[in-house]
Amino acid sequence: MASADKSNDLRKIPSVDSLLKTNDGEELEAVYGHTLTVSAVRIVLDSIRANVSREQGTIPRPEIILQDVLQRLQEWTRPTLEPVINATGVILHTNLGRSPLSSETLSAIQKVSHGYSTLEYNLSKGKRGSRYTHTEDLLVRLTGAESALVVNNNASALLLILSALSNRRRTLISRTQLIEIGGGFRIPDVMSQSGAILQEIGTTNRVHLDDYREAIEEHPIKLVLRAHRSNFRLVGFTAEPSAQEIAEVAHQAGLPMVDDLGSGSLLDTAEYGLVHETTVMEALAAGADLVCFSGDKLLGGPQAGIIVGGKELVEKLRKHPVARAVRADKMALAGLSATLLHYLKGEAEKKIPIWQMISMDLKKIESRAKQWTRFLKGGEMIVGESAVGGGSLPGERLPTWLVALSVDKPDKFLRELRKAHPPIIARVEDGKVLVDPRTVLPQQEGALLVELQNALARWRG
Ligand SMILES: *Cc1c(COP(=O)(O)O)cnc(C)c1O
Repeated sequence: MASADKSNDLRKIPSVDSLLKTNDGEELEAVYGHTLTVSAVRIVLDSIRANVSREQGTIPRPEIILQDVLQRLQEWTRPTLEPVINATGVILHTNLGRSPLSSETLSAIQKVSHGYSTLEYNLSKGKRGSRYTHTEDLLVRLTGAESALVVNNNASALLLILSALSNRRRTLISRTQLIEIGGGFRIPDVMSQSGAILQEIGTTNRVHLDDYREAIEEHPIKLVLRAHRSNFRLVGFTAEPSAQEIAEVAHQAGLPMVDDLGSGSLLDTAEYGLVHETTVMEALAAGADLVCFSGDKLLGGPQAGIIVGGKELVEKLRKHPVARAVRADKMALAGLSATLLHYLKGEAEKKIPIWQMISMDLKKIESRAKQWTRFLKGGEMIVGESAVGGGSLPGERLPTWLVALSVDKPDKFLRELRKAHPPIIARVEDGKVLVDPRTVLPQQEGALLVELQNALARWRG
């Protein structure tokens, strides 16, 4: 008797076709396409069938079934890479995508990506050109280097340099610089991947010029490498020769010296109340034969690895097979050119978001924080610190004004903020939720305030 009932019930489950022929079904198919919609309908019907045969639950009406289908379709098609509001005060937040781009950079990317472009086409000759020409002139003009090459990111720049100049040969590096910068990037690992043999010198805290001299005398060294410590500081009983001294010793032995600057600033960070970071121009002037750095750290552009230096060495890199494997795409090249142009025109501080944030006037931050507390009718303004982040300027802080929110269970409230549209990323200190105006982009300010207000209202009931 029971089993007869069940088979009756199972036969009452609507078919895929009949659901797709309803108005709601047709609408879903129009939005999400036939294949995806059918898959979602099948999965929902399967679960209904399973419930019914276990005699748990009844057959929902078609509208209800299709609501479930819609939910699945939305889940499947929702992008996982989505914008967020960075209220952490960390300007170059690696987990949040490092550098936001200037409008000019974005529109340059859009212009060349929406259609065809001269990526590898020489218009005056009417034949094949080189993708490497697009940013080289700008980089040469800006840094004074003889030549330049742009690749996928700085990790691949280093991989290319080592593969081309030190494959199965020894590269000299000090133990004070054998860094891990996070995301699985370790200098010794990159070296072994490239086929370069690591010749370590010195100790963790101290290295001397004689260590360099002796190693060059004793071993068949091909390359001398210097790597920026990026995310930590060497303090206490320490010693390290300058880049210039290392370059001199390398050159006396006829060896090239490569300086991996990591962030690689074109502006003087000391002018912004930060410790002075070696600029790309200074690294070249100190005698580095090649200097490499990221496009999306202190440069403030799209992800890229930039190599500048001597013509012959750069040419050697360009011809190496690894160069093809790590080449930059048209979006990166177009975006990087637009960002570099800001520097060339002397408008970097005005146009590049991360430099706008670094140089933001404390008075302006204060007045934004004041407006926010007024709008939220809650929260207090406190003095705090923002960070540059992104593996640059470790330990360096910029004074800022924060809006501190007193809520129950602040860590849980952070989770609530991550559910906002767009999600808000904030931090907790001393039991208070802190939001830093410095890293909130002006166009996101409205959304931030509305979402904060809603979240607070929900939280406080
Ligand atoms: C960040 C960094 C890298 C890696 O740069 P990506 O552009 O992230 O690949 C390499 N070397 C140093 C010293 C760095 O700080």
